[in-house]
Formats: sequence, structure tokens, C-alpha cells
Amino acid sequence: MNSRNEQDLKACLQEMRWQEIQQFRDSGGDLAVIPVGSVEQHGFHLPLGTDSMVALRLAEDAAQRTEAIVTPPLWFGWSPHHLALPGTISIRPQILIEILFDILSSLTAHGFDKFVIVNGHRIVNIPWIQISAEKVQRELGVKVVIYDPAYMSKEISDGIGFGEVGHAEEIETSHMLHIMPHLVRMEKAKDYISPEKKLYHVDPRTPKDTLCYVPSTAKDLEQIAGESGGASGRPSLATAEKGKQLHEHLVARLIEVITELNKGNSK
Ligand SMILES: [Zn+2]
Repeated sequence: MNSRNEQDLKACLQEMRWQEIQQFRDSGGDLAVIPVGSVEQHGFHLPLGTDSMVALRLAEDAAQRTEAIVTPPLWFGWSPHHLALPGTISIRPQILIEILFDILSSLTAHGFDKFVIVNGHRIVNIPWIQISAEKVQRELGVKVVIYDPAYMSKEISDGIGFGEVGHAEEIETSHMLHIMPHLVRMEKAKDYISPEKKLYHVDPRTPKDTLCYVPSTAKDLEQIAGESGGASGRPSLATAEKGKQLHEHLVARLIEVITELNKGNSK
């Protein structure tokens, strides 16, 4: 499952030699994909690195079929709401803004001038990615776009039969069953249905989406942890087949984004 051939590896910066990056640049390649995720609890059944693994696999699968290099993932995200459970590592937003700026700035020094940031940590990542991307564009004169799987799968999620966006729910669990089945413990998956939220909804698929989001508190999480180990939603409904449909759709959309950007179109 995880063994990949030489062809598969050609897009991963950390597995290439500097001359190969030089060749990529000399042949006109100037686009890099940067996966960003988190290391945070994902219930009883999914690994802590789920968000980063999803972002990395999407980036790799799209880059292999386009003209792009994938950087190593930025593994850590801002996860204060998950710190109540062990293993979660949370980095302050101002640090993440600066790290991302430094990664893109380094690549810009080698002639890369188009960047796609693949966000595996959903809405929690978006504000600081936007701030960093704006600063990169303004100060370095390059193009940056953000690719967010939750938004990019809006049109197919209902058709696949996914319920609402939660955390470690059937969407993430199905995706992981497809890309990393050996790391999923389905027998441990526990559902938790959150009480209906009257004021705020964070799910790009629903017209009730209010977008504005403040992470839940440690107290909120402790209550969920007691019932589902920190998952929220219905992971028990996950299947590898749903994950395959989701993954293939997302890779196709990411290929489209990379291809358009390479043609000079950014919108
Ligand atoms: Zn996640």
C-alpha cells in the first residue's frame, strides 16, 4: 500500500536532490505545493497526524500528474481546543504565519513564484494562512492560492452521503480508510452528535454556515472526549469507498487549480 515507485516520488522535494530541483526550474517549473495540517487528537480511532497526512497525500497525488513540486508538510497547526488530550501539539498563529512566510520566501529565492497551500486542518488554519499568503504576495511579488478540501468538496459531499462536518467524523475517517487504512481503528470509532447549534454553524455545505469561528474550549472537549474520545459526528458510517470518491474528486480539483495557475490563471 505504501510502497511507491520512482515515478511517484519525483514530485517530493525532501526525496529529491538539489540538482533535480534545479532541473525542474531550468525546464520552466516554478510552482510549489505546500501541505499544511495539524498534530491533534482525532478520537479513539484516527491518528494524531490525520490532517497533515490528508494534505500531504492530496498534494502528492496531484503533483505527480502536473508540473509541480511538493514540499514537506508543515505538520503543526493551531489546536488549542484539542490540547485537553495527550499528544496534541499546538503552535501559536503568529509563529505559523512566520514559518509559512519563511518556507515560501526560501523557495522564492530559488525562482519559484507560484504556490498552492493545501489546508488539511479546515477552518482553524484558514485565517493565519490567509495572513501569511497576503504578506508573501505583497512583499515578494509572487502568487499564492489556498486549496481547502472542505470547500473544494462542497458539490459532492451530499452525493457521497456524508453528514455534517464535525471532527474525526465520517468524512475524515473515510478519507483515511482510503489513503492510510493501516492507521485506522474502526472498531474503536465512537459517534457523538453535538447538540444543535442555534447561532453558529461551521460547514461550508450548509446555507446556515456563519464562517466566523472561535475554537471550542478545553471544557467543551472534555465532555466530548468522555463520550467519543474527541470525535464529533458519525465516524461509524465511514467506508473506504466513500473516501476513494472524496479523494479522487479532491485530487482532480487540485490538478485543475495547479494547471490553471501554471497557465497564468489564478481565479
Ligand atoms: Zn482533522
